[in-house]
Amino acid sequence: MSRPVPNPGILDIAPYTPGKSPVPEPGRKVFKLSANETPFGPSPKAIEAFTHVATHLEDYPEGTSRVLREAIGRTYGLDPDRIICGAGSDEILNLLAHTYLSQGDEAISTAHGFLVYPIATMANGARNIVAAESNFTADVDAILKAVTPRTKLVWLANPNNPTGTYLPFDEVKRLRAGLPSHVLLVLDAAYCDYVSRNDYEMGIELVATTENTVVTHTFSKIHGLAALRIGWMFGPAHIIDAVNRIRGPFNVSTPAMYAAVAAIEDTAHQQMSKQFTETWRNWLTEEIGKLGLKVTPSVANFVLIHFPAEKGKTSDEADAFLTKRGLVLRALKNYGLPHSLRMTVGTEEANRLVVQGLRDFMGGGK
Ligand SMILES: *Cc1c(COP(=O)(O)O)cnc(C)c1O
Repeated sequence: MSRPVPNPGILDIAPYTPGKSPVPEPGRKVFKLSANETPFGPSPKAIEAFTHVATHLEDYPEGTSRVLREAIGRTYGLDPDRIICGAGSDEILNLLAHTYLSQGDEAISTAHGFLVYPIATMANGARNIVAAESNFTADVDAILKAVTPRTKLVWLANPNNPTGTYLPFDEVKRLRAGLPSHVLLVLDAAYCDYVSRNDYEMGIELVATTENTVVTHTFSKIHGLAALRIGWMFGPAHIIDAVNRIRGPFNVSTPAMYAAVAAIEDTAHQQMSKQFTETWRNWLTEEIGKLGLKVTPSVANFVLIHFPAEKGKTSDEADAFLTKRGLVLRALKNYGLPHSLRMTVGTEEANRLVVQGLRDFMGGGK
C-alpha cells in the first residue's frame, strides 16, 4: 500500500538530540549545564512585562513585532524596518533556508558547527557541505575552497557553538569578500554578548554595507528567555522583504515580545551576567586544565573539554560519573566531537562541583 512520502532530504536528517534530562543519584541536586542557559534567569523587568500582558491572552499579537524591532533598533542603532523577529532564531534560520535553498543547491557549514544548520539545509532538499575547521575554529580558506557553482548559502556561528571559538571581524570580512556575491552569508551571533575581544564584531557593519549578509541573534542566551522562543535578524531590505513573505503572520507571541523589550533595555542585568560568565569561564578553563584535560579557549558562556581516549578516562565515562552527581554536561558525538563534553558556565556552586567531580574522576575516585 502506498503512503505519504517526505520530501527529498528529510529522511537524511539525523533527529536533533537536545541536552539530556538528568537522572542523578538520589539526594543529589541537579545542575543542568547542557543547554547554554543562563544561571541568572531573565531580568526581573522581563518577568514583570510578561506577567503584565498575561491579562490579554485572547488577543492576537501585533504581527510585525514592532515594539521589539524598535527596541532592538534603539539598542544597536538599526533601522527597525530591516529587522525580523522570530520564534527563536531557529525559526529565522529555517525561514532563511526555506527562502534561499532548494533541491540541487549547496549550503556550507563548518565541521563542528551548530546542528540546526544542516537540518535547515537538508529540510529544503539542499546538500550540507562541511568545511574543515582548524583548531576547533572556522577556517575561512577551507570555507572558500568548499564553494562550488551550486553554493547558495554559508552558515557561520560567531562565536561558534559547541566549540566557543570565534573569528576576528577581519576574517569574517575576508570570507565575505571571497564569496560570490549571490551567496548569502548568515552570521549567527547567539553568543556575541559574552565576547570581550577588540577584534570581534557581530557583523552589523557587513550587513549594512552589502546586499548578501544577515546577522541573527537570540534572546535565549544572555537574556535568559529561551522558554519564550524569541530571536531576530538584521538584513538588507530585499532579504527582509523576501523572508517576510513566508513568515507566519503571528510568529512571535505578545508575552515574548514585551519580555524581550524589557530584557534588552536592562543593560545592568546583561553586564552582570557577562562579567560573572567571564570570571568563571576563565576559572573553569584554568582549573580543568590543571587536571590534565585540554579546554578549548572560549569566548562564550560554555567551555569545551577534551578527554583522552584511554579507558577509565574517556568523555563517556566522565559524563556518566558527573551525571550521577547531578552535573549534566553535553556529549557531542553528533557534532563530530566524540571525546569532548561541553559545559555551560553555571552558578559558582555548580562550577566548583564540576571541577571537584572532574578531579575525582581523573584521580580514579568515586
Ligand atoms: C542557542 C543558539 C541559538 C539560539 O537559538 P534560539 O532558537 O534563538 O533559542 C542560535 N544559534 C546558536 C549557535 C546557538 O547555540
